[in-house]
Amino acid sequence: MMQFTLNKTVVHIGKAAPELAAWKSGAGTYEDKEDAFFVADLSDIVNKFRIWKCLLPRVQPFYAVKCNDDPCVLGLLAQLGTGFDCASKGEIQRILDMKVSPNRIIYANPCKQKSYIKYAAKHGVSMMTFDNEIELYKIKATFPNSKLVIRIMPPDDSKSQCQLGMKFGCDPNDAGHLLRIAKELDLNVIGVSFHVGSGCYDATAFSEAVASAHSVFQVAEELGFNFDLLDIGGGFPGQWSDKITFKEICDELTPALDRYFPEGSGVRVIAEPGRYFVASAFTLAVNIIAKRAVPRDNPGGYAVVVDGISRDEEPHYMYYVNDGVYGSFNCLLFDHAEIEPNLLETPEPGVPTYSSSIWGPTCDGLDCIKKQCLLPELNTGEWLVFRNMGAYTMCAASAFNGMPKPHCYHTIHESCWMLLMKLAKSDASDLKLLPVNMKTGHNVPQTEHDSIVLDCDC
Ligand code: PLP
Repeated sequence: MMQFTLNKTVVHIGKAAPELAAWKSGAGTYEDKEDAFFVADLSDIVNKFRIWKCLLPRVQPFYAVKCNDDPCVLGLLAQLGTGFDCASKGEIQRILDMKVSPNRIIYANPCKQKSYIKYAAKHGVSMMTFDNEIELYKIKATFPNSKLVIRIMPPDDSKSQCQLGMKFGCDPNDAGHLLRIAKELDLNVIGVSFHVGSGCYDATAFSEAVASAHSVFQVAEELGFNFDLLDIGGGFPGQWSDKITFKEICDELTPALDRYFPEGSGVRVIAEPGRYFVASAFTLAVNIIAKRAVPRDNPGGYAVVVDGISRDEEPHYMYYVNDGVYGSFNCLLFDHAEIEPNLLETPEPGVPTYSSSIWGPTCDGLDCIKKQCLLPELNTGEWLVFRNMGAYTMCAASAFNGMPKPHCYHTIHESCWMLLMKLAKSDASDLKLLPVNMKTGHNVPQTEHDSIVLDCDC
């Protein structure tokens, strides 16, 4: 198998994600034969980057590292030329270690530890967000020359998978007060940021937030600031099958940007997409390590096994797999994710299915991945596959009960690999350098995205 190294990690070239999963799951000589594992298709990320460049050419993406800090993801995006949104010293360090310039980083955590601000100052990471008065005094004491971005609450973040407004962002009506204090402290505030909520499914949330940010620009101007940065945050969809498409958001967002911050206005627009880049690129395969058959009609739930199964009913199968809510499936609790199990191979038509539930490997009863689904009867040693597992999964996983985090295997389509080689040599981030047919990428995009890719001239 052809391979190369990206950010110190092996990437297999030319293997489709399902092929790689089948290869791994059948690799008999490996001691870790039955361990859960991820397959990351980096071509999917290149494809997303290209679509971004086509549909939001004015907006520079600063990838939100917190979403998935896989070394290949970071290395790939660094080579494609994105910036990075970091939330801590550790994340900043990871990006600087890749020799990415500090001015490609925004420290986008409005409430920061003092020593982390000093670390940012020492390494020239000067762009950072704030949303309260105490933070301004802290920054004055630790990094007075920083370039500050005031984070405002969006008008409405209720139509998003994870709302952030209850924790971060000042009321836009209080922005004047904060900016006056910044002025008194002689701090350099350069612009406005917002986040409409992670996994936003309402495009108007973006346009309304842009309008609100514009009103803060006006207040700032009256106070003598010369703002030149708008940060539109994250919230963009990451799955091809999401409720809203990236294009629908861009169709609403672009006119708002053109109206309030037209090209030529001198305002640089950046964003902090997380799930957009990674959600669909990662597939998780888990192994069935144990199985129980319980009566389907047991009113007490799943725990009581009454001498096998009840005679007049089909069984309910409980499958125990080797990753759970304390591991990669923490997204069920923290990210309100919805997941669907698939089989490694599509079952023959007409194969009977049974009421089933899927449980994680720890001894905690809470560790349930799917309470109810229909599956053909499976046996221990077989695999279940979960797609769209790239966002807010492995990055927040614990080793509770001593359960290891799954290894991740990386794959990339040959054409995307060639693109990376070219970019590495030319040290340029412009995709016009190489005509790549993104239709040949794996995790083949949906039809509407196909046409986006074909129509645009990039
Ligand atoms: N920026 C900030 C400040 C965030 O807190 C988050 C997510 O929580 C993101 C960006 C990324 O959001 P998303 O993954 O929805 O794009």
